[in-house]
Amino acid sequence: THFGFEEIPSSSKSSRVSSVFSSVASSYDTMNDLMSLGIHRLWKDHFVRSLNPGSKPLLPASSTSQEPRTEPWTMLDIAGGTGDIAFRLLAHASLLNNDHTSRVIVSDINPAMLSAGRTRAQQPQYAPYAPRLEWLEANAESLPPSIIKDNSIDLYTVAFGIRNFTSPLKALREAYRVLKPGGVFACLEFSKVENRVLDAVYKRWSFGAIPIIGQLVAGDRDSYQYLVESIERFPRQREWRDRISEAGFLVPGVDERGEGGWENLTGGVAAIHKGIKP
Ligand code: SAM
Repeated sequence: THFGFEEIPSSSKSSRVSSVFSSVASSYDTMNDLMSLGIHRLWKDHFVRSLNPGSKPLLPASSTSQEPRTEPWTMLDIAGGTGDIAFRLLAHASLLNNDHTSRVIVSDINPAMLSAGRTRAQQPQYAPYAPRLEWLEANAESLPPSIIKDNSIDLYTVAFGIRNFTSPLKALREAYRVLKPGGVFACLEFSKVENRVLDAVYKRWSFGAIPIIGQLVAGDRDSYQYLVESIERFPRQREWRDRISEAGFLVPGVDERGEGGWENLTGGVAAIHKGIKP
């Protein structure tokens, strides 16, 4: 295809991805802090705040074909790994929206990541949310239709996951299938730094330091080298927005000249893209 990210033969890509995440699962949370200097926490906080989980209704009636929903939300955190997004979604729903019934299905292809997440859910600060979490081992490109039914999900999140998929487009089509009309697809992913000076600093950091930190902390240089390269291959902001819209989603925030429709974080080191299923 014309997307750089689909040029890798699929079998080699998926086995590569699975060995990367099996080898990093135990050190994953520490590595995230080191590699991003802790900034990934702020991005995730912002991402979740922007989704306002547990606020009712999910969307104003006018922007969807449906009446406003008053039911608890069923959220699906794809590539949910060790639960970073899921815990935040439930904390936000509970603490800010007084919603104690919405649920999150944490889905990931890698059992080692999920089991690290399950262990985390037993820690005291997360334990209140544990009964509202489910952990599902599944490939985001073909979710089990008997478990994740058509039109069943209010909010689909994917953070730092979709660029690793063999086919991000297949995952988008699955997102479309499982979301309710009016449901939201929300993606937080590394993107392209738009300022040249910041980009130069960032490239030195990511190509220079991250593989070395990976070697020193996780004893695995290659996995982290792979992660850095996968960021380079993923489409830039505008192109990714267009893919989301081609999958059938309404992209909020696009102006009358066709500009916008994403939110850059830290100058574009990461970006948030959203789509609403009509
Ligand atoms: N969302 C978490 C976070 O932000 O901390 C974890 C992100 S981690 C960088 C990427 C995750 O994507 C890994 O847990 C990996 O197992 C998962 N993954 C990779 N390919 C996948 C696929 N095809 N389907 C589902 N999950 C996948």
